[in-house]
Amino acid sequence: MDLEKSARATVAIAFTVSGILTWGYVQMWRDDVIVPGPGVTAVKWLSDYHPDLKGTLGDTRVFVLEGKEPGGTFLVLGGTHCDETAGFAAALVLVEHATVQKGRVIVIPQMNNSGWTNNYPQEAHPQFITIPQKPDGKGRVFRFGSRTGNSGELWPDPEVFIQYPHKQKYSGEEIRNPNRAYPGRPDGTFEENVAYGIQMMHRKEHIDMQIDLHEGPPEYPFVNGVSSHKRAADIGSAAVLEMQMADLNIGMETSPDSFRGLSNLELGDMFPHLYAFTSETVNPIQGKIRGITDEYLTVDGVDAFYDEAAKIGFLFTPWPNIGSPLKLRVGRNLQLMRSLTTALADAKGIDIVWGEMPTYKDLMANGVGHYLNEVPAGTERPGIRALPGFWRYLSKAWSS
Ligand SMILES: [Zn+2]
Repeated sequence: MDLEKSARATVAIAFTVSGILTWGYVQMWRDDVIVPGPGVTAVKWLSDYHPDLKGTLGDTRVFVLEGKEPGGTFLVLGGTHCDETAGFAAALVLVEHATVQKGRVIVIPQMNNSGWTNNYPQEAHPQFITIPQKPDGKGRVFRFGSRTGNSGELWPDPEVFIQYPHKQKYSGEEIRNPNRAYPGRPDGTFEENVAYGIQMMHRKEHIDMQIDLHEGPPEYPFVNGVSSHKRAADIGSAAVLEMQMADLNIGMETSPDSFRGLSNLELGDMFPHLYAFTSETVNPIQGKIRGITDEYLTVDGVDAFYDEAAKIGFLFTPWPNIGSPLKLRVGRNLQLMRSLTTALADAKGIDIVWGEMPTYKDLMANGVGHYLNEVPAGTERPGIRALPGFWRYLSKAWSS
């Protein structure tokens, strides 16, 4: 083959490979299918509270579960960090299965929607995971995103990210971390705008209590825990005691004032009536000493390397012989939310009463998929609703 022919062949192969990869990447820009259950009384968007988010990847669905009797309001934030599967999955069980008798529960399963549009390929993270519903393993398919928002929104990251308004310095990548962007501002970064949407929701809905559902790797010191704003420490402690009485090992700490930008600290400081929490369960796919990395690691939670690490006393948390499956982590989240609403009623007289709401034991017996709905026949994942900022800019430049 002469030189020109082989050059042409190389260019053609490069185009084909990058075309296939781009197609796969762009599939992550489409929203996941969520099938609201009997408890959902309204579906809104975050842009209903902060219209600048409309037409951007910062916009996300907001599900309201309102009881027949009036009471308090509880905001549940899942999917702040989009590789922390159990927070999203617990919020999803609320939307698709739970009901509320008294008060309101507002649920955002994918708080940082932009983080769901890209993953960490260099960590070998999957792009999609399946939550099984059938004995053969078939079930609902969802994206598996990243801890930070899409780099197409803001590129390159700065060397140093200076948090607003406290001027705390973080590494540059944290500019795309929604949980350093609170309380947010309308003329700030992309993630500060998303956080501002949550702030505006607080202003409109008078939220009494909020939880931001997170996960961390098994070798981190603060997992299996709940962290509270200092004003919410009494409610948090009461909830943790109730969890321990149900034989669920859980720790509690108060959010330090020196760790700025976090949802429970900033919104708790801003709204004096709000009791704000962050929770952490154990997700082995986030760990650095994990073995084979695939969707089964975050769903089944079994890993031989962590079995070994537990044996030699390397972990801060119990690592049971079943590992840390998604059903266990979602069960813990649901039980914690139930304990928090009980504690809020006991300590402050603010009532939020669940109707149908699975317990930890239910989740361990039946799995997560049991509490998700069948997707109605003919329902497809929606097409691309918004582009990351860079692409939005290009498409505008192209069409003008
Ligand atoms: Zn997190």
